[in-house]
Amino acid sequence: MWRLLRPDAYTVWQEKGVRERLNWYYMVMRDERPAKFLICRKIDAEMNPAELDLNGLWDLHESLSERFWSLFPKISSGNLSLDELEEPRWNFLDVKVEIAYRMLAECRFCEHKCKVNRLKGERGVCRLGADAIVHSWFHHYGEEAPLVPSGTIFYGSCNFRCVFCQNYDISQENVFSGVIVNPRQLALMQEELRKKGARNINHVGGEPTPNLHVILDSMRYLRVNVPQLWNSNMYCSQETMKLLREVIDIWLPDFKYGNDECAEKLSAVKGYVGIVTRNLKIAHNSGDMIIRHLVMPNHVKCCTEPVLRWISEHCQRALVNVMGQYRPEYLVARYPEKYPDIARSPNPGEIRRAFALAEELGLCYKPVS
Ligand code: SF4
Repeated sequence: MWRLLRPDAYTVWQEKGVRERLNWYYMVMRDERPAKFLICRKIDAEMNPAELDLNGLWDLHESLSERFWSLFPKISSGNLSLDELEEPRWNFLDVKVEIAYRMLAECRFCEHKCKVNRLKGERGVCRLGADAIVHSWFHHYGEEAPLVPSGTIFYGSCNFRCVFCQNYDISQENVFSGVIVNPRQLALMQEELRKKGARNINHVGGEPTPNLHVILDSMRYLRVNVPQLWNSNMYCSQETMKLLREVIDIWLPDFKYGNDECAEKLSAVKGYVGIVTRNLKIAHNSGDMIIRHLVMPNHVKCCTEPVLRWISEHCQRALVNVMGQYRPEYLVARYPEKYPDIARSPNPGEIRRAFALAEELGLCYKPVS
């Protein structure tokens, strides 16, 4: 049935620009290559990560990362199969998981760097303790054509406070009404989604970043090959980006604002542009990517234009989804007088300007917008 609803999920692969930009994802999606987390599981850590202090763990991570990236071209080109590699006692993924749990004791998964001990129930901006909370998981047919059907897992909580949030129920107001999942349960959800036809596992929310430890840990138990997709506001810390770059096959980042003032006013985050552009560069250098930009009313000049220009200069290999579906939600819908600039949908002129600029800059946006 969904093939009738989304025929573009098939025809999109006839687009040269899409095949070239999403080549790794395409091969993993079709089970022709192993997802990156499976490669990590074959890289020998040669020692028990639990016995190292955090500095020692990062040193080990650095050397295993080098090993990963030296193997990756051979695997990507089909010259090396994972079957040719031994099953190590401790592997690169174990090291990542160990680091993530250590970080939880002084949380700096994202750039808020709250440094709270979430293992002891202390709460930072995202209000999450040590548990990961899932609100729903299903095949999503509304994502970009190359991703459909997307095995989407909606985590509770967020580190942003977007006044226009469309998912405010799970990100802000009823964060704790979902179910607590442990890594094994999360792996089973992913297995079920894949076995029933998901092209990828789409970690989203809310925001996946505060749930990093459980997401990484779930990959130790996952028994199917499936592309891992990070659907995020990209306010991750550098350490989080280091942990993610060898397990994420395709990135689906938001790039919302072209300046820090709009980000602080509408999402309550500081230093937005520097942090997100730093992370987008890391993601662009380490995997396939579709960048989403939501066109907002009265924010074309200050946000859309600098965002699209930055992408054209730094991420030409990315596909770009220029999104025109903004509508007032959450606090903007409740108190429009407080947010007069964004209390309406973008008008046709604003949308036209965004698409014209994407065209002028030579971005590859049509197949996913
Ligand atoms: S994930 Fe971010 S917001 Fe949540 S406690 Fe950690 S640093 Fe703070």
